[in-house]
Amino acid sequence: MADYVPPLRDIRFVLEQLADLHGLSKLEAYEHADPGTVLGVIEESGRFMADVVGPLNRVGDTVGSTLGGDGKVTTPPGFSEAYRQYADAGWGAVSLPPEFGGGGFPWLVAVVMQEMLASASMAFSTCPVLNQGAIDMLTQHGSPGQQATFLEKMVRGEWTGTMNLTETEAGSDLGLVRTKAVPAGDGTWCITGQKIFITFGEHDLAGNIIHLVLARVPDAPPGTRGISCFIVPKYLVNDDGSLGARNDLRCVSIEHKLGIRASPTCVMSFGDAGGATGYLIGEANQGMRYMFTMMNTARLSVGLQGLSIAERAYQDALRYAQERKQGRAVGAPASAPSPIVEHPDVRRMLLTMKAYIEAMRATLYTTAVSIDLARHHPDRAEREARRELVDLLTPISKAWCTDLGVELTSIGLQVHGGMGYVEETGVAQYLRDSRIAPIYEGTNGIQAIDLVIRKVPMRGGGVVKDLLAQMEALDRELAAVGLELAGVRSALANGVSALREATDWIMSRGLAEPNDALAGATPYLRLCGLVIGGWLLARSALAASRLLRDGGSDAGGGSDAIFLREKIGTARFYVEQLLPQTAGLLPAVTAGAGPLFQVDLSRAVLG
Ligand SMILES: Cc1cc2nc3c(=O)[nH]c(=O)nc-3n(C[C@H](O)[C@H](O)[C@H](O)COP(=O)(O)OP(=O)(O)OC[C@H]3O[C@@H](n4cnc5c(N)ncnc54)[C@H](O)[C@@H]3O)c2cc1C
Repeated sequence: MADYVPPLRDIRFVLEQLADLHGLSKLEAYEHADPGTVLGVIEESGRFMADVVGPLNRVGDTVGSTLGGDGKVTTPPGFSEAYRQYADAGWGAVSLPPEFGGGGFPWLVAVVMQEMLASASMAFSTCPVLNQGAIDMLTQHGSPGQQATFLEKMVRGEWTGTMNLTETEAGSDLGLVRTKAVPAGDGTWCITGQKIFITFGEHDLAGNIIHLVLARVPDAPPGTRGISCFIVPKYLVNDDGSLGARNDLRCVSIEHKLGIRASPTCVMSFGDAGGATGYLIGEANQGMRYMFTMMNTARLSVGLQGLSIAERAYQDALRYAQERKQGRAVGAPASAPSPIVEHPDVRRMLLTMKAYIEAMRATLYTTAVSIDLARHHPDRAEREARRELVDLLTPISKAWCTDLGVELTSIGLQVHGGMGYVEETGVAQYLRDSRIAPIYEGTNGIQAIDLVIRKVPMRGGGVVKDLLAQMEALDRELAAVGLELAGVRSALANGVSALREATDWIMSRGLAEPNDALAGATPYLRLCGLVIGGWLLARSALAASRLLRDGGSDAGGGSDAIFLREKIGTARFYVEQLLPQTAGLLPAVTAGAGPLFQVDLSRAVLG
């Protein structure tokens, strides 16, 4: 496992050319976040991620977090010190609300920093990222008293937050949650029950852990309409803000798992000694609604993990391919073997990784900047359009990018040959770590269902149609560039046309035969990701071409001509060689459920 190098030029290119960082800084809310300051913060934080967190990735995997007989979880050597430095530097607070001590920067900046943190160590990143999710929830739905008690310390990273949703019988279907909350008579609630798979449910990084717990109050309606959300701190908090008594909750075990071994995955027991003290957030039975409001940012954070881990795997694969010598490349001197990077098939693997990584980054940053615009654009119609776009892009960002995270870390391993399969190179860890991201924060199957059942039908299909129209409108700009991007133009047109056909089918079948739309949901989501990625990379090629024409070697704020020509080459590879997969996905979308039920899997007998 080699050092992580933050890809600052690539990040900056997307921020400036696709995510309109300059436009964002003109909004009143972000006047203090001028592009120069933002880029400086990103560079400085990237150095921290690379120098302080990156070196812990390996020990995190080999030692992992451990549970002692006293119920205490010890994180791997170096984690606690690195976390303290992370919190002291305020890296987790840059985009959090200023009224609670945050920097008030755009969410886009938090997303860039999350990308670099998860590349440095995906396991480490799960703690601060969950804390940001919990802060988001309390900022939007906590009472002023709750916010005053908990938020400042969480924003400072002195305390960390968790999400306690899952139970043995309630995974994808949270309507089955059984944890109970009964009034304690003094305005607080008495919580009893067990939660499983709770990330950083117990640890030694911070002084207090603020659990957000889903539970049922007496006489709650069945299903998701009867779920409430509670704050259940590990230590109760005295009126003066100091830590009080230990609450009645404990970690009873942690999981031994495939990857992210430094991230403790805890079974949490609440109320073994009578009941843990909890504080109701908002109104009873509204817990799922509150959870949904923070899901856009939480799911985007998990989608980012796909990008982050793929970027780290790409960096290792590229270095290895430049050093490892095998075989003689066509045209190379006969005297010595060539670096494997000279072989077309290895180049195909590397370019596939690079192109998907750039498409993912463009998609994720587009979603992130839309979150900022939805919150702070002065025009109400624009805010609403951006909110709709975020709703549409969120399941795609989460599922497409995390599926690719697994595929690309696997390709990275393949570049290493046998050395990829042995643990000492460290690249196997990337593949193992990446595998959780398609599962948690709503499995990718559930994301695909969300896309076809809830998101595509938004505004009678108007939201997805608006996006398709934007993609089609790029054709004129591509045509104006002429021959240089002619291949990109025709391949993108084919991809967008396949997506339009698939969307029309999903819209009509979703109403007539929901099972048909559900059967096509996963290939449809993939098709969406591929085409949106292609559209954004075509825009990236257009921007690079324009900068080359206008600015010569200093175009793009420090980007040199080689860098810009590589942007065009990567976009061409993606659109001309990866995007045509859409033609194969279309029949899988429109096949309907019939073929899936022809084999009677429900009654199938093995042997
Ligand atoms: C390492 C790790 C960390 C985690 N961290 C947290 C955490 O911090 N907090 C927390 O609350 N939870 C956490 N989880 C739990 C995680 O969110 C769940 O595992 C996930 O939501 C899936 O639930 P499940 O495991 O019960 O799978 P199931 O719901 O049993 O799903 C099994 C399979 O069936 C599919 N499926 C289920 N229902 C449907 C349906 N209606 N239609 C189509 N397909 C369906 C799923 O897509 C999946 O492929 C974590 C899990 C792990 C492994």
